[in-house]
Amino acid sequence: MLAFYRTQGLMSQLLSPLKPATRRMRVRAIHTLSPRMRRVVFTGVSPTDLADLANVSPGAAIKLMFPLNANGAADRTLGRAYTIRRYHAERAELEVDFVVHDETPTAQHGPAARWLEHAAPGDEVEFAGPKRGFQANPAAPWTLLVGDETALPAIFAILESLPERTRVHAFIAISDARARLPLEGVPGGASAGHPRSHDIHWVEADTAHAGAMVVGALSAQTLPTGTPQVFLAGEASLLKQVRTLLEDTWAVPRDAIDAKGYWTAGLTREQRKAQERR
Ligand SMILES: Cc1cc2nc3c(=O)[nH]c(=O)nc-3n(C[C@H](O)[C@H](O)[C@H](O)COP(=O)(O)OP(=O)(O)OC[C@H]3O[C@@H](n4cnc5c(N)ncnc54)[C@H](O)[C@@H]3O)c2cc1C
Repeated sequence: MLAFYRTQGLMSQLLSPLKPATRRMRVRAIHTLSPRMRRVVFTGVSPTDLADLANVSPGAAIKLMFPLNANGAADRTLGRAYTIRRYHAERAELEVDFVVHDETPTAQHGPAARWLEHAAPGDEVEFAGPKRGFQANPAAPWTLLVGDETALPAIFAILESLPERTRVHAFIAISDARARLPLEGVPGGASAGHPRSHDIHWVEADTAHAGAMVVGALSAQTLPTGTPQVFLAGEASLLKQVRTLLEDTWAVPRDAIDAKGYWTAGLTREQRKAQERR
């Protein structure tokens, strides 16, 4: 299975047109999707600037450059990864869904959370990427998607992209019921509801308990047999606990698990990276 992912990654690199290291985009609108999620709609500075984003695989992310200083001066910036929730080619609009970090005290907010608090239409942001997203493995008997609210945009993009025949279960940890969002891109019209909605298991827990609660939900659910293809993303401790269940108890091979640590409670991205280097 590892060879499959390597080939896919290499192929997408070879096929992607040459892009500048960073480019700029502009905020067109900001929508409140739930008390926990804000959608920022971006457009290119010129109409074709973002056109290549139409070809990315679901769950692919870009790195947005936010001002380091709380006063918003962009003389120094720090990069933060955010998922491409959707690119609308016909409107040349990119949607990025930001979690509101209200579990973290405002004084400890990082550059992305600070930027979101004051973001307004017309603001410009530099970004790099995109980076590779999820590559569905047609040979896997079923697909397991696990994450917290930061992974919701990636999990939703993957769910909306999977062929109807794919058997899939998604477990998403949310702070409370208000964070639930509907799947979009309904094939038969919005009133029918997205058929994949039934594949989502919502797990309500705060960050400190999300890992244990998701492990409990996974263990309690009757799931298909065979080794799943796994996408796992979110807070570091959730990742660790779910990996332990998958690898040690379920014996899922490492190369079947695409695990991405998105953030660490109590640490900035720079502190997390420094810890990983030690
Ligand atoms: C590939 C990838 C894709 C991602 N996609 C998304 C996405 O689509 N939407 C999204 O919202 N996030 C996404 N993230 C997570 C996001 O990049 C991090 O949450 C990031 O650390 C936020 O940066 P910051 O500057 O606000 O906080 P930092 O400077 O990194 O941290 C400052 C403080 O805020 C806390 N903090 C960071 N994130 C959160 C959080 N989610 N909730 C509460 N407290 C937090 C930290 O623990 C720290 O105490 C993604 C990450 C990766 C790697």
